[in-house]
Amino acid sequence: VLDIGTPDYIVKTTCAYCGVGCSFDAHMRGEEVVKMVPSKDGKANHGHSCVKGRFAWGYATHQDRILHPMIREKITDPWQEVTWDEALDFAASRLRGTQEKYGKDSIGVITSSRCTNEETYLVQKLTRAVFGNNNTDTCARVCHSPTGYGLGKAFGTSAGTHDFDSIEDTDLMLIIGCNPTDGHPVVGSKLRAQLRKGAGLIVIDPRETDILNSPHMGDKWHLPLRPGTNVAVVTALAYVIVTEKLYDEEFIREKCDWDEFLQYMEFVSDPRHSPEEVEKVSQVPAHLIYEAARAYAAAPRASIFYGLGVTEHSQGSTTVMAIANLSMLTGNIGKPGTGVNPLRGQNNVQGSCDMGSFPHEYPGYRHVSDKATRELYERVWGVPLSEEPGLRIPNMFDGALHGTFMGLYCQGEDIVQSDPDTKHVTSALTAMDIVIVQDLFLNETSNYAHVLLPGSSFLEKNGTFTNAERRINRVRRAMTPKNGYEDWEITQMLANRMGANWDYKHPSEIMDEIAMTTPSFALVSYDLLEREGSVQWPCNEAAPTGTPVMHIDGFVRGKGKFIHTEYVATDERTGPRFPLLLTTGRILSQYNVGAQTRRTENSVFHSEDILEIHPSDAEMRGVREGDWVRVASRSGDTSLRAHITERVAPGVVYTTFHHPTTQANVVTTDNSDWATNCPEFKVTAVQVSPSNGP
Ligand code: SF4
Repeated sequence: VLDIGTPDYIVKTTCAYCGVGCSFDAHMRGEEVVKMVPSKDGKANHGHSCVKGRFAWGYATHQDRILHPMIREKITDPWQEVTWDEALDFAASRLRGTQEKYGKDSIGVITSSRCTNEETYLVQKLTRAVFGNNNTDTCARVCHSPTGYGLGKAFGTSAGTHDFDSIEDTDLMLIIGCNPTDGHPVVGSKLRAQLRKGAGLIVIDPRETDILNSPHMGDKWHLPLRPGTNVAVVTALAYVIVTEKLYDEEFIREKCDWDEFLQYMEFVSDPRHSPEEVEKVSQVPAHLIYEAARAYAAAPRASIFYGLGVTEHSQGSTTVMAIANLSMLTGNIGKPGTGVNPLRGQNNVQGSCDMGSFPHEYPGYRHVSDKATRELYERVWGVPLSEEPGLRIPNMFDGALHGTFMGLYCQGEDIVQSDPDTKHVTSALTAMDIVIVQDLFLNETSNYAHVLLPGSSFLEKNGTFTNAERRINRVRRAMTPKNGYEDWEITQMLANRMGANWDYKHPSEIMDEIAMTTPSFALVSYDLLEREGSVQWPCNEAAPTGTPVMHIDGFVRGKGKFIHTEYVATDERTGPRFPLLLTTGRILSQYNVGAQTRRTENSVFHSEDILEIHPSDAEMRGVREGDWVRVASRSGDTSLRAHITERVAPGVVYTTFHHPTTQANVVTTDNSDWATNCPEFKVTAVQVSPSNGP
């Protein structure tokens, strides 16, 4: 162990990678971080961390950081380094000019789940109060928007129901569409610890994830479904529970709408939802569905964890509602050890959604057409507000190609790399009059930008992130922003150039405004966060120090709602030209599109994306371990090295999306969730053939 001696000072802050939200003590010497130590009193991590948070913070001070604003007239021109005043004047005047030419609805923003709550709040305020429209959307659109929709419909609130500590009370965990030991390692370790104590395990996943191989004492089931059939399998679990009368009638009568339940019972009992029928589409043996359903219903306390393998489907929202049905059927909600727990990918996906980033909702998930809420914000912000929902990200791209949406302010999100159907995205950006990118690095999206505003890293700013268990954690400034400003200050300067008169001196003042206008944050303040360390919303008069477990005395919407979840096959079908199904995921050492982890010592791990392919599919194509293969879909093609493994079933191939050279999203389709437009990243029909490399 390297002895780095005594630090000059220590700053407690929050990891900026995944939605676990681990607390860290940044040990500082001058303006340099010398090490990051997971905080023992961190309520999400209790002194634990993973290889990303502990060792992969070097991107924050990496030499690739853009430190000076840049502008250019056309995207084919070279970048020109300018002062902040020149860049912001240029950006504001181009945005205003675009509105004058094409109308006030012709511009909008994309907020980032990597930025703080306060920064996100200001960006949506800029859109609504200064641009005069509701064209604000978030990168959560492409990950967990179905969670917001589905849980909102079933329970009345768009968030995970339980705290991570509740895992210690669970007797059985059902994990569907997520790989927690890689994607959310600290939660993954907690789940593993509970398995060692004897908890049962059900994994519903096309791939054999690592948690299945954890040492444990209890029973386990792996339901290796065909990608795209989540709704069929989860509804078949409900079929077994209902037809075998394994449901919790007392809970349903007390907490749910009984008449709706009776209708749901009739729906779900139909033989088309039986395990035998569902086996035909999902390829999950019927006996596994029966066994898993009985085990989930019999466990005294059963919990559900899910991730993007649930949401990034054409039926993402339907699967979330099907999962909610399971928990209500068995009374597995509203008490420790149970619940429905979406594991959020980015550090502040929950917060980004909470802060009103969606085009139809103000902070706290209140619809823009709600008169009382709109009047509240009109009073506080001092301007009239639109009651018309704005554009979602895919609609912004469509609008650009039709000449109606022509200006974008994109904060902390590389949409060219992370959104589906890359060609469509780049065509849209090319068509726009003004694209402003605010980020730490030049990225794929900045190739299409006219203004580059250098962003600040989590080590250079004050604010809060909200993790997957609704925990609001402080982010504290450990060093002076290398670019000169924190991100919220940049948004404020842009807003003021466009006619606003904002005068926030510190993010705590923004949080005070959030608390004043958002009932679930009513008592949140920086003083409270100093006293408590962190709190979980709702935090208000009824719960002055926050709410670890929700829906204890009843659901936020009143009665829990059973929703009919009919399985509809995705339009993406295999056939002779594209006979395999490609699905995607993450690996422990890397994070999302890799912009951060590739600029740290973690770059040596998993230095390229690889394609997992079953031995029978590889042999049929003459592919050997490590060979280059071409992966082609109806949308495009890319090249990867092959890894031959039985972790994927015959007919299924799998890759990660951490490296821009791979451009996995060149291959994915433009199918999306029917309710939220979340892209169907997890199901793409492809052909795999030997190649000579990229
Ligand atoms: Fe914790 Fe996630 Fe950061 Fe790892 S990446 S330290 S699990 S917040």
